[in-house]
Amino acid sequence: MAIDFQPDVMVCGAGCAGVVAALASARRGVKTLLIERAGFAGGIITTVGLPFFDGIARKSDRKIMQRGIALELLVRSGVCKASDELVYAHNPTIRSIERFKILLDEMMQSEPKLQVLFHSFVAGIETKGDRIDTVVVANKGGLQRFRPKTVVDCTGDGDVAAWSGAPFETWPEYMPMTLHFRIGNVEDNPQLRAKAKDVVVAAHKEGRLKNYYGPGMSFMFAKNELYFHAIRVNGDPLDPEDLTRCEMQGRRDAWTMYELWKEKVPGFENSHYVMSGPYIGIRESRRITGQHVLSENDIKEQRKFADAVATGTWYLDLHPNYATTGSANVKPGALGGMDGFQPDHYDIPYRSLLPKKVSNLLVAGRCHSATRLAQSSSRVNATAMFMGQAAGTAAAMAVEMRKNVQEVDGVKVRAALDQIHAGPFAG
Ligand SMILES: Cc1cc2nc3c(=O)[nH]c(=O)nc-3n(C[C@H](O)[C@H](O)[C@H](O)COP(=O)(O)OP(=O)(O)OC[C@H]3O[C@@H](n4cnc5c(N)ncnc54)[C@H](O)[C@@H]3O)c2cc1C
Repeated sequence: MAIDFQPDVMVCGAGCAGVVAALASARRGVKTLLIERAGFAGGIITTVGLPFFDGIARKSDRKIMQRGIALELLVRSGVCKASDELVYAHNPTIRSIERFKILLDEMMQSEPKLQVLFHSFVAGIETKGDRIDTVVVANKGGLQRFRPKTVVDCTGDGDVAAWSGAPFETWPEYMPMTLHFRIGNVEDNPQLRAKAKDVVVAAHKEGRLKNYYGPGMSFMFAKNELYFHAIRVNGDPLDPEDLTRCEMQGRRDAWTMYELWKEKVPGFENSHYVMSGPYIGIRESRRITGQHVLSENDIKEQRKFADAVATGTWYLDLHPNYATTGSANVKPGALGGMDGFQPDHYDIPYRSLLPKKVSNLLVAGRCHSATRLAQSSSRVNATAMFMGQAAGTAAAMAVEMRKNVQEVDGVKVRAALDQIHAGPFAG
């Protein structure tokens, strides 16, 4: 069944950056279409089950770095008040992933200019000259063809940018993928964490787990229910066969850990496996090469940009690859530690959201233009949302001005964000 709606702005991917971009564009009164492969919005927060808003506040004093829709989400989730200048932690969490899905549904449904399509995969791009002419979407209605004026790529993987011919970078050994999972009815005790770790280390030595992290475990969502950051799978998220293997490996490893803990660790005897994923989390794939490539030097030197539209504040957080046992200087189970620089805060310029070669495309979130090390900081959830708000605003401005996004002045995007109190930190 063909869908009638023809958008002015089309946002691909309803994750951290995309859902915010679509709301920002629609709130300016521009006809906006949001496409998402899952049956819900929220991206990594809901597809992987990751409740953190890293990047919303700086570490030193927990001061909120940028407001706008990212902060609105925290306020509407009951985490803080709209008037707050500080949050309780620099990485505050929402309490319920399921409630968050519904909150996003409600916010999207309340925008008359916004059409959302779930269970829809952006599957192809047709270009004319330097423009995206048609975005092809695969869903239960068949292949849908949309001809937006401006496109915002928030797929995390830069699918739209790559398929449009925009230049991008990849890396031969990506950061590992991680499947998060939850185990219920666990009785806490002083030895629980150490014993759980011993079991994982032994399983790795015996060859039952090729790689792992930590395990990081916390009673995050409910009493007696543990949330785990423990899986590490090395692979290529852009290779469909390898991604399938990684999903299967992550699930298998999580279940192996659960079975071993239940058998060997006091406190897990009556536990049950609640859920995983539902998707494995991808930290790294394509990064577009945009008009400005945000670098670690920009971050370390707190370089100021007149066209700053987003503020970053997370540390340089590269997770080690461990593709081959004993490779490089990487140990399984360990943290990143490959630089770890903690900035106070830094500017992300509009030009880092602007790809080269394609005139009606913006990119926000994980796949924006940055070096690998810079992206290890700028990829975090709230920072991705800040970029999404800037990209959605700029896309709508381009439509209003009948211009390409390349012709929209980043200083004016910043001014538009400032006007609605969603601009970058000016300190
Ligand atoms: C395992 C893991 C742990 C992490 N831990 C933290 C943490 O603790 N705190 C933190 O702040 N950050 C963390 N990060 C980083 C952060 O979560 C991501 O970098 C962030 O989600 C980036 O936002 P995004 O909008 O670019 O991508 P996402 O939130 O992943 O959104 C991309 C969206 O696009 C959709 N999509 C993809 N391709 C298509 C397509 N072709 N068609 C239609 N839809 C598509 C996806 O389904 C998804 O909804 C972690 C990342 C991983 C992988």
